[in-house]
Amino acid sequence: MRLIKHPILCNYYLTYRCNAKCGFCDIWEKPSPYVNVETARKNLVDLRKLGVKVIDFTGGEPLLHREIDALLELAKEMGFITTLTTNCLLYPKLAEKLKGKIDMLHFSLDSSDKYEHDQMRGVECFDFVMESIRVAIDLKERPDILFTVFENNTDQIKEVYEKICIPNDLVLILNPAFSYNEIESGPPLSGETLNLLESWARKKNVYLNEAFVELRKDGGNKVDDPICKAASTTLVISPENELVLPCYHLGEKSFPIDNNLRVLYHSDEVQKLVALEGRLPACQGCTINCYMQPSFAVEVNKYWFKALRSTIKYNRIKGTWTKLLNF
Ligand code: SF4
Ligand code: SF4
Repeated sequence: MRLIKHPILCNYYLTYRCNAKCGFCDIWEKPSPYVNVETARKNLVDLRKLGVKVIDFTGGEPLLHREIDALLELAKEMGFITTLTTNCLLYPKLAEKLKGKIDMLHFSLDSSDKYEHDQMRGVECFDFVMESIRVAIDLKERPDILFTVFENNTDQIKEVYEKICIPNDLVLILNPAFSYNEIESGPPLSGETLNLLESWARKKNVYLNEAFVELRKDGGNKVDDPICKAASTTLVISPENELVLPCYHLGEKSFPIDNNLRVLYHSDEVQKLVALEGRLPACQGCTINCYMQPSFAVEVNKYWFKALRSTIKYNRIKGTWTKLLNF
């Protein structure tokens, strides 16, 4: 049973540029412009009319956008829940300007070992993450640690939790790695690792969407009976001001928005692609968290039940429930 039929999330790509070079990501290789603030303002008005509740300002590295504070402010003024994930290289410098503008602020950290984290990220950013935690806490911000789980860093979950999250009262978000296109995130997570992840789900200050684990155990999305609702739950806007369908990672087709996002989204051409979400050949076995998370939220099925506990837990900690309900 489908509970919500309108889109609920916008992944707003502010730029594809990035100041890190993570081995499991190819986005930083793309040439890219930056989003124009006035254009974004018009899109946000339409996103609101389309029923979107959450704006994820993403990239690339979203803090590379020189007017990131203005973009966040616009979204907040319009009543959206805002979320942003950063590699932290620029956060200490910008923290004052960003204060109070990000509801769900995530710092990427995949190891408590400086060398290991920096190796994975391709640049020296570990010290910036530590500095960002200090700065954010001083400003009374509540960042979360976003830990991407690979087969080779599972030993670091406990280390990051005990050495960094618990002493600073930060939520540890466990984000199982996923592969897409030609980008490999190492071997798929083994049954042992998936069981280990589940054992972390109920610990204090840990957020793990158990439906992510369940989907991997089931072999991912199935094209003949898709769980993916990427295009009907999530709008992807590119730095070139295009609507990308059915999801960023597949990027089958992009449509220029031309100040008309709402009309464009409802057009036959776009809706034909929306109907193909999860059904294209590349969709077989897909586990891309960015789209599966909203997909789990809109239809009652076993993944919806699996996701429910962690969703309630996280929104209670972050205080975002009331906002979701009152939008
Ligand atoms: S910080 Fe994010 S966008 Fe940049 S290279 Fe790493 S994963 Fe990609
Ligand atoms: S199954 Fe994966 S690749 Fe296919 S539309 Fe959904 S998120 Fe994109």
